Amino acid sequence: VALVPQGGNTGLVAGAVPHDGAVVVDLRALDHLEAVDVAAAQVTVGAGTTLEALQEHVAPHGLSFGVDLGARDSATVGGMVATNAGGLHVVRYGSMRSQVLGLEAVLGTGEVVAANLGGLVKDNTGYDLAGLICGSEGTLGIVTRVRLRLVPTPEERLVLLLGLPSVADAVDVLARVRARPTLHSVELMRAPDLALVEAHLDRPFPLQPLPPCVLLVELAGADPSPDLERLVTELGLPDERTAVAEGDPAAAGMWRWREAHPEAAAALGLVHKADVTLPAGGLAPFVGSVEAAVEASAPGATTLVYGHLADGNLHVNVVGPDADDDRPLDAVLELVLGHGGSVSAEHGIGRAKRAWLLRQRGEAAVAAMRDLKSALDPDGVLNPGVLLP
Ligand SMILES: Cc1cc2nc3c(=O)[nH]c(=O)nc-3n(C[C@H](O)[C@H](O)[C@H](O)COP(=O)(O)OP(=O)(O)OC[C@H]3O[C@@H](n4cnc5c(N)ncnc54)[C@H](O)[C@@H]3O)c2cc1C
Repeated sequence: VALVPQGGNTGLVAGAVPHDGAVVVDLRALDHLEAVDVAAAQVTVGAGTTLEALQEHVAPHGLSFGVDLGARDSATVGGMVATNAGGLHVVRYGSMRSQVLGLEAVLGTGEVVAANLGGLVKDNTGYDLAGLICGSEGTLGIVTRVRLRLVPTPEERLVLLLGLPSVADAVDVLARVRARPTLHSVELMRAPDLALVEAHLDRPFPLQPLPPCVLLVELAGADPSPDLERLVTELGLPDERTAVAEGDPAAAGMWRWREAHPEAAAALGLVHKADVTLPAGGLAPFVGSVEAAVEASAPGATTLVYGHLADGNLHVNVVGPDADDDRPLDAVLELVLGHGGSVSAEHGIGRAKRAWLLRQRGEAAVAAMRDLKSALDPDGVLNPGVLLP
């Protein structure tokens, strides 16, 4: 019987959606939280634990979890491992694979493997099974428990909005902030998309008139102010092109502008989503040509572009084409490959992007992936039809 592991079902590439009579394995009941190991800054939790429950469990110890994302109230740790989720702070802490020290999983054979659940920081004894299962989208094993690295909660955080003339200028700013020790996030937004978010939230954006391009920069640590002052002085932007939020409620208010982008797109109609990575030098040319590429295949479509700029990760949302019209997203992904990027940055391949895996990774790499799949899941019961073409 084909099995489809499912956590919060917040994945955006249809990897947890059952097909052809497959049975859903709902992992949400595995939500136990073990005691926080403060000396090691680690914790073990059940795979069904939501990100929010994990964050609340570790917070009283002055610790945080290094991955955060908008779906925190429903996305589960197991789903985040399976998709190697990224999110808002990859520039500082890395993606999910960097947080996973060990895990327990049930393979397709029914064998239970426990890989470094004790959380040894150094353990070079053979293949890294936990790392392999990260990003395997439920095709190699069902994750049941996870040992996670934690990070000190920053004492203070500052959020800065910078209004800039273009995406090329935003990439220049990235080069200036990259080495700042307090850097926590760098998010990109554009004027036409912010106008849609303004309409959706029914309030004006803090920088007026809307700059062509806006960077949201979060700095966090014991004292992020010197980094902020240095950046503002170096950039020398006029006052109406910068806004600063200090403290959690004000910072959350600034973040709302970025996090409301998917909602603003959804308010317009069915959203076709691409989640892509570009090399730093390809970001501005890609953003400059993506709307024309969509327009050529779907005249009149609305295209939103926003994302985690420090990781080269852009989310392209296209609204207008029918649900089964793949042409606009195909045009976007073709453009991504032309610029040396990746067709999946952090959402995975799932069912939605399967056709692109061979183009992205090549025959030899996909053949090696198939061999791994047959070794750990010889009967092909785990999530058939997901990831591998
Ligand atoms: C508003 C919103 C914002 C988001 N923001 C981000 C973001 O910033 N960064 C990001 O990376 N993602 C983001 N996502 C996508 C999504 O939240 C992540 O992919 C998340 O990791 C999925 O977790 P889940 O528990 O919902 O997994 P599901 O959707 O249930 O499953 C996802 C995949 O993992 C497999 N799976 C689930 N649980 C297990 C398990 N225990 N063992 C083995 N396989 C399993 C499923 O079979 C499927 O292939 C966002 C989604 C939404 C709706």
